[in-house]
Amino acid sequence: MAEGRIIKAISGFYYVKSEGEVHQCRGRGVFRKKNITPLVGDFVVFDKNNPDEGYVLEVKPRKNELVRPPVANIDQAILVSSATKPDFNPLLLDRFLVLIESKGIKPILFITKKDIIPEKQKQVIDRYVSEYRQIGYQVELLSSKENLSELSNFESYFSKNVSVIAGQSGVGKSSFLNAINPLLQLKTDDISKSLGRGKHTTRHVELVEVFDGLVADTPGFSTLDFNKVEANELVECFPEISEQKPYCKFRGCLHNKEPKCAVKQAVETGEISAMRYEHYISFLNEILSRKPRY
Ligand code: GDP
Ligand code: ZN
Repeated sequence: MAEGRIIKAISGFYYVKSEGEVHQCRGRGVFRKKNITPLVGDFVVFDKNNPDEGYVLEVKPRKNELVRPPVANIDQAILVSSATKPDFNPLLLDRFLVLIESKGIKPILFITKKDIIPEKQKQVIDRYVSEYRQIGYQVELLSSKENLSELSNFESYFSKNVSVIAGQSGVGKSSFLNAINPLLQLKTDDISKSLGRGKHTTRHVELVEVFDGLVADTPGFSTLDFNKVEANELVECFPEISEQKPYCKFRGCLHNKEPKCAVKQAVETGEISAMRYEHYISFLNEILSRKPRY
């Protein structure tokens, strides 16, 4: 018996990395009975007596898990937006942030295509960068066209961590991963991606080595619905809003129509960004108007 971490799962086989070696294992029938599906990222106990075929015997408790990509025990999500082509979209970014914050995963913001920002857009992008940094997020403005030695400035984000990458299509997720690990050879740009899609009907995810850490090779989140996030949880997904909560008059204040709301006061004074508050209110309305589910 040994302990390790699942780094890849394909058609019933789990590839468990333990002390630098990868062991091919099957899942025990007991998992199916108990309704447990071992996931990539899981810490497991396995039996490695036979070098070709072992068994995953036990899945350790998870700290979190995502459905798309199916990965457990994620340390951080790298949220990729582009500064241009497509235009930087703060509403979409905040939507991604809510989904990631609601899962208790740490977000890191990468803004790509720094090399092609039109002169007149540069100030706008710089303002967004400082706005998100003000909230406390780590934000990097970068270009995947830079050489590897420039890009190794980002190495520390990856070391010892399991990351998922998320962001709208076309923002440069694959380009960035290829640039920092040329062995990956992920498809870039939409044409070759849509051509490649038919061939791999069995979706599988793998944790690949990037610098000193692991990254899921499939980008995250295919839908951006909040259907699992409740109104009181939404507040927690905006750190700067949640911080003001103790100062609101009413416990359980949703910072919407309530009087004596510290959040609304902080928006007035500019301490909280009006844009972020607007996005919060629009997501809150979306959640409040959702039909009850039975
Ligand atoms: P993904 O859909 O998020 O994986 O985006 P891709 O990696 O496929 O990139 C979409 C397009 O943007 C490709 O044509 C890339 O060459 C281009 N691209 C990605 N990152 C950068 C960048 O930092 N600078 C420039 N100039 N182009 C980029
Ligand atoms: Zn309030």
